Amino acid sequence: MARVYNFSAGPAVLPEEVLKEAAEEMLDYRGCGMSVMEMSHRSKVFETIIQEAEADLRELMGIPDNYKVLFLQGGASQQFAMIPMNLMKNGVADYIITGQWAKKAYQEACLYGNAKAIASSADKTFSYIPDCSDLPIDEDADYVYICENNTIYGTKYKTLPNTKGKILVSDVSSCFLSEPVDVTRYGLIYGGVQKNIGPAGVVIVIIREDLITEDVLPQTPTMLRYKTHADAGSLYNTPPAYGIYICGKVFKWLKKKGGLTAMKEYNEKKAKILYDFLDGSKLFYGTVRKEDRSLMNVPFVTGNADLDAKFVSEAKAAGFENLKGHRSVGGMRASIYNAMPIEGVEKLTAFMKQFEAANL
Ligand SMILES: *Cc1c(COP(=O)(O)O)cnc(C)c1O
Repeated sequence: MARVYNFSAGPAVLPEEVLKEAAEEMLDYRGCGMSVMEMSHRSKVFETIIQEAEADLRELMGIPDNYKVLFLQGGASQQFAMIPMNLMKNGVADYIITGQWAKKAYQEACLYGNAKAIASSADKTFSYIPDCSDLPIDEDADYVYICENNTIYGTKYKTLPNTKGKILVSDVSSCFLSEPVDVTRYGLIYGGVQKNIGPAGVVIVIIREDLITEDVLPQTPTMLRYKTHADAGSLYNTPPAYGIYICGKVFKWLKKKGGLTAMKEYNEKKAKILYDFLDGSKLFYGTVRKEDRSLMNVPFVTGNADLDAKFVSEAKAAGFENLKGHRSVGGMRASIYNAMPIEGVEKLTAFMKQFEAANL
């Protein structure tokens, strides 16, 4: 068996310990005689799995008691609709456009109410985070929406926007559990787990309790109401049970690693190796404004599309997979999520050095 260094933006690398443990439990989960995939989501055994997952996530993020944790389906993209359907009480919301995911969320919200794009970094191909200290927040805005880490472009908010008292809603799909967060600063935090936590098919929503009401847009389907899932403890219908089980294992892995403070230190150390190399390189360069650089997604280019393609192909042959940039931006992107070991980044950097010497 040969595992590669997988720099995919998502679905992405998971901790090897977690995968091994899941493999050991595949045929017989702790004496049940069946796999977690095969058991009733109403069973005592699964109840323990989902409750422990929630408790561990609460501990990791320090989630206060007045926030609900929901394990849902439909990916992050379904939240683009669920958020306006459930939160647009006045029919107004402000969106900050820092990339494709924020733009898609904004476009979806336009179907349901008066969504406004109050800031954007589209003018420079989303290579920076706009100044959000004094934005024209609408007086009637039900919330202000951000995409906190921009997976495709490699930018990250280092300070949250001044929402002037409005609720902050954040898509953290690609920076989930990469560093400590102050949950109380948000009304709703959500993310698809396939970037930094688990297998595709689960989206986690952390929502302040007072925002979960029956007062939703008319015709909102039962399945798309937060209240439906909050009232049922994420067991209104069959949840993505196996995915939740793997997420639970990743939460325990993170706790063992020292929690989110330790994770942040590790992620900073890892990202610094790559960014320092890019800053000193005569061939490669990073595409993001330095102060807005993501710790999770690192886009870079040579400035020559043919050379970029050559690099991606030679890197793949050397065991560094999925380094091709998003189809909309080209170049390269190394996603270095929690589960990417530091050796992976060290070896990639050494490989880039070699490539530079051979191609300069
Ligand atoms: C991947 C991604 C999405 C889309 O996730 P799906 O689960 O495929 O819908 C949304 N937002 C961000 C920030 C992402 O990285």
